[in-house]
Amino acid sequence: MTRHYQALIDHLSQISNLSRTNSLLGWDMQVNMPPKGAAARGAQIETISRIHHELLVSDRTPQLIEAATAELGTLAYDSVEAGVLRVAQREYELATKFPVEFVTKWAAIEAMAHDVWAKARANNDFKSYQATLEQIMDLARQRAAYLGYQTHPYDALLDEYEQGITSAHVGEIFSGHKDQLVELIAAISQHADRVDDRVLHQAYPIDRQREFGLAVTRALGYDYDRGRQDTSVHPFAISFSRDDVRITTRFNETWLNPALFGMLHEAGHAMYEQGSSAEFDHTPLAGGTSLGVHESQSRLWENIVGRSRGFWSWALPKLQALFPSQVGGVDLDTFYKAINKVQPSFIRVEADEATYNLHIMLRFELEMGLLDGSIRVADLPQEWNARFESYLGIVPPTDTVGVLQDVHWSAGLIGYFPTYALGNLLAVQYYNQAITAHPSIPEEITHGKFDTLLTWLNREIHQHGRKYTSEELTHRITGQGMDSAPYIRYLQHKYSEIYGL
Ligand code: ZN
Repeated sequence: MTRHYQALIDHLSQISNLSRTNSLLGWDMQVNMPPKGAAARGAQIETISRIHHELLVSDRTPQLIEAATAELGTLAYDSVEAGVLRVAQREYELATKFPVEFVTKWAAIEAMAHDVWAKARANNDFKSYQATLEQIMDLARQRAAYLGYQTHPYDALLDEYEQGITSAHVGEIFSGHKDQLVELIAAISQHADRVDDRVLHQAYPIDRQREFGLAVTRALGYDYDRGRQDTSVHPFAISFSRDDVRITTRFNETWLNPALFGMLHEAGHAMYEQGSSAEFDHTPLAGGTSLGVHESQSRLWENIVGRSRGFWSWALPKLQALFPSQVGGVDLDTFYKAINKVQPSFIRVEADEATYNLHIMLRFELEMGLLDGSIRVADLPQEWNARFESYLGIVPPTDTVGVLQDVHWSAGLIGYFPTYALGNLLAVQYYNQAITAHPSIPEEITHGKFDTLLTWLNREIHQHGRKYTSEELTHRITGQGMDSAPYIRYLQHKYSEIYGL
């Protein structure tokens, strides 16, 4: 009946299988691979990337899209078929913008650069990474030129992660709440002594940290029959299908936060992927619609839920049972304040909610400058440190905890960082809607019951996969666009109470 559409689905499924296979090679590279495996792995990823690209840009793709479109006739915008056609068309158009040699070069440098970056980071040696990063930035500029843009090369790269948003709009959203953040942090710093987080900085054996993280993320609703947890240099979540969505963690033996909140964060990403509609698997509709929406899910579980008083009234006794000598005597109020301590710090992934977006604003400005040539790679460490001091009042003592901390640039991910900050804003916008629909959610969380919230997220966000853009989805849910005001209200309310402002 729908012969052409079925042929299109088969074709797209092969394309998806190749891309998921590459993801698996990448996961293994970061989780299991011995250091000397990098060269061969680079070649393998390059081969799969080339075949993937050739299949996607082959004449068969537009022919099948055209035949299926004619066969299906008028479709409701909301229908699965219309979504598949829309997203397949966009993917095809994006892919045909790059010549095969460029795709090959891009994949090769990505595979090579990870190792160079990891060594430079370990040895606090930016110079050993500089030439590689220069090559990456050159390729990023070429990438932007192939994609095309109106105003700034950044717009082209940003559009790949957050469809339709421009660097000017991001700049507006950022400048729209930067001053309020700086003000809030200044007010908090007047009363820094009101929160003591020493309880979090003790010896916490890693096996028990893992046990606690697994138990809590399982309780939230991350399905370990369709997922797993491993260790890597930089934590991430990755999906090979909705039935195999994995997370990674890094542990700190003397600090509870990184692994605990890292696992909540990555589980949030993973639950989004696991919730994608089953009928989308093997189609371009599978997975999350944009990085900003993805990050809204991770930040919602990590912060709005995971750093709430209600959550810890349920979780603290469980933590106390595993770590009696570390937290056995601590009361809920002290613990809740400790995990919400605001303190300008060097590492983005360990930053508190109030300072986090400033870490992003700094990266956004540097990436803009690197792309348009107003900042040279060689000057990055100084440029980084100068901005860090002016936004957060501190200077990183080493590049390891400064400009070298993130994996992103080594993976060719330029234009990605803003989506983290946008995710923070969207998380609050979405959560407010969930509470409006189900006022019982905060109370349920105090009993370790998360299914009302997860079901709401599943219905409103997860199941739709990539059918709607982030903008469409946000309008459907909130009736508005992206907005920093609810986020600022949330922070002001939370920290006024914690710090007695
Ligand atoms: Zn994330």
